[in-house]
Amino acid sequence: MSHHYQSILDSIRNEVLPLQNDGAVANYIPELATISPNRFGMHLRSIEGHDHAVGNSNENFSIQSISKVFALALVVSLVGEKIFKRVGVEPSGSSFNSLVQLEYERGIPRNPLINAGAMVVCDMLIGQLKKPKNEMLDFVRMLAHNKKIMFNERVAASEKEFGFRNAALANFLKSFGNIQHDVDEVLDLYFHICSIEMSCKDLATAFLLFANHGKHPGNDEALLTKSQTKRLNAVMQTCGFYDEAGEFSFTVGLPGKSGVGGGIVALHPHKYAVATWSPRLNPKGNSVMGMKALELLTTKLGSSIF
Ligand code: GLU
Repeated sequence: MSHHYQSILDSIRNEVLPLQNDGAVANYIPELATISPNRFGMHLRSIEGHDHAVGNSNENFSIQSISKVFALALVVSLVGEKIFKRVGVEPSGSSFNSLVQLEYERGIPRNPLINAGAMVVCDMLIGQLKKPKNEMLDFVRMLAHNKKIMFNERVAASEKEFGFRNAALANFLKSFGNIQHDVDEVLDLYFHICSIEMSCKDLATAFLLFANHGKHPGNDEALLTKSQTKRLNAVMQTCGFYDEAGEFSFTVGLPGKSGVGGGIVALHPHKYAVATWSPRLNPKGNSVMGMKALELLTTKLGSSIF
């Protein structure tokens, strides 16, 4: 099986290469636009712990919205499903930073994987943790088996400087009483977790948690219950790809999450976790080469979760 995965990854790389000039790097966070765009990496880690990789799979990049899954997993491990009283589990059908929906749904974000939902998660983490930024980073490092994972302070500062829309969302949530702590403190945590830098290898390793009933390889104790893990996978499946979650389910058929840094991570329960990175995005905000690579993966393997 191992050999099988590697030859599939090698052929995927050749097949996605012609797409390397398609799409555009996110530039609404100026610091993200400084990345060299023609990059492609992919790393698959099987549930047995075997690694398979191609391209720039060891290079660090800004995980951006992928961090929302880590924040959600940490809050669920701390408070259980109480979080879902303050944030829903429905796909939003609108962009990740939309204000309109929040107004007519009276401050309850549609799901925890859009910006407003992640801010509510950050607010809960601030209430639960003594040093939320450090503890969040420690959680991610533990899952990825990599102590060197860091925030990128330049990216966090750039997001803060140009984060007018995110500041509006946080203030809006506060006006509805769905943020309990200081708005600036919530935004600071939110911008920092978005700025975390990881490689495809780190992400595939960390996401084995969700492929393995909430038990992370290397930890004796389960971090999440089986039921919580199934539910987080369901949220990723329906809400993990901005306004393209349907398309991702349709063409790839795995739960996962994308970020505007060009990363995508997905998993096949009981089989593997896989991460791709390529900074050029399609108009919906998902990596062009990453989407194609994952579609090819489940096609060539002949299996998705469906
Ligand atoms: N930090 C980004 C923002 O808040 C995250 C966006 C994303 O990756 O979806 O705009």
